[in-house]
Amino acid sequence: MVYQTINPTTNELIKTYPNHTDADIEAALTAAHKLYKSSWSQGPIQARLEILERLADLIDSRADELAKICVQEMGKLISDARDEVWIIAEIARFYAREAEGFLAPIKIESALGEAWIQHQPLGVMMVVEPWNFPYYQLMRVFAPNFAAGNPVLAKHASIVPHCASVFEGLVNEAGAPKGAWANLFITSSQVSDIIADDRVVGAAMTGSEGAGAAIATQAAKHLKKSTLEMGGNDVFIVLDDADMDKAIKDGVFSRLHISGQECICAKRFVLHEKIAGEFLDGFTKAMAAVKIGDPMEEDTRLGPLSSAGASAGLAKQVQRAVDAGATLHLGGKPINRSGNFFEPTILTNVTRDNPAYFEEFFGPVAQIYVAKNDDEIVELANDSRFGLAGALFSKNIERAKTLASRIETGAIWINTFASTAPELPFGGVKRSGYGRELSHLGIKEFVNQKLVVVGEAA
Ligand code: NAP
Repeated sequence: MVYQTINPTTNELIKTYPNHTDADIEAALTAAHKLYKSSWSQGPIQARLEILERLADLIDSRADELAKICVQEMGKLISDARDEVWIIAEIARFYAREAEGFLAPIKIESALGEAWIQHQPLGVMMVVEPWNFPYYQLMRVFAPNFAAGNPVLAKHASIVPHCASVFEGLVNEAGAPKGAWANLFITSSQVSDIIADDRVVGAAMTGSEGAGAAIATQAAKHLKKSTLEMGGNDVFIVLDDADMDKAIKDGVFSRLHISGQECICAKRFVLHEKIAGEFLDGFTKAMAAVKIGDPMEEDTRLGPLSSAGASAGLAKQVQRAVDAGATLHLGGKPINRSGNFFEPTILTNVTRDNPAYFEEFFGPVAQIYVAKNDDEIVELANDSRFGLAGALFSKNIERAKTLASRIETGAIWINTFASTAPELPFGGVKRSGYGRELSHLGIKEFVNQKLVVVGEAA
């Protein structure tokens, strides 16, 4: 695996990073395990939380520089990059302020004696992360594990090595001890060896199904816990009583956010038949009018895809869908200019026997489905191998809540698009994975919820 920064706006190679060796991995594992056994991991939480606060302040103080590095490396819009930098500071702060309460002992009333659950670190973690939120994905696994006392070895995506290095630098500068976080430029097989190592207790992975299955298989083989945050094919449901302008605006934003390369962005638009024509008209006009261009320019609304491979792969996927009978309603191909730009694209008439029906399109490609009534909407929404998130638009909140409770996803958003915040749990069901990140749930995934019972002394 070659770790390289290639600017997706120009496809210029900026820098190649050397891979870490097996000896580097051994040194990282030794440092992480030593730290886990030390009073830093096992001792009071406050010392760790102070470092998280410092990290948040440090990130804020370098926000502009961090945002630009992110744009140059994976092509998201500068405003989105600023949002990402803002939220990683918020996640660090959230755990700095809340972790002590989340990990406080929980008393249990029991006939067998005084009993409680205490939360303790589990040990060294292996995490594998994707490029689409190159800082946020790292912070999601760093902050809760750091607060809990688990040292982490991290393999980031090979196309975002600059973000990976900068993140490691920030953690060190904030005062994290040696071994708390190690960024490793390594191969899949080295990841596998690390998971097998006795000093490692668990693996957390965000990315594609294939990679998730490989990591979960290795973790299971060695009887270690894993959490998986996989892809999604999220529904964006528009009922016949929805505010149409709002639904169209949010639909376009959600489908094109991060150039359509977000796990929880709107992918399948499921429309009530009474408003399907009106929605599709407005949505098509808005998608076609989007300003495409340099992600560093403030008024650009659609930047490039993350890599030349992503753009070529998406073009093939769209073509396969059309070959299998889908109608290309808008766009459908890479844009003829330097960089990895792809037209805003809309597919209609995607039938259940078309492979596209079950696939995640990781780019600015919307699929449109029409349903007769609420039952058919639920059936279409749930006819997916994925179950990450979804959005539902209706002015009738009770009707929306009833439908929301019938949708098989890890999250559902009413009258707004799916998003994220430090206090909100993040994760899916079905092939979107298992386990949760962020919130009070995320920090408990990799702690020992240890029962203590005090019986009669004599
Ligand atoms: P990917 O190919 O699975 O890559 C993700 C990470 O896994 C990268 O660091 C990659 O390294 C590594 N990797 C790939 N195969 C591996 C293996 N066999 N063993 C160990 N590591 C391996 O995913 P992607 O296509 O870049 O990312 C997009 C996917 O992630 C989409 O499906 C998206 O929906 C999903 N995603 C989900 C969430 C969520 O929270 N649920 C969030 C963001 C993205 P290399 O870069 O070196 O290949």
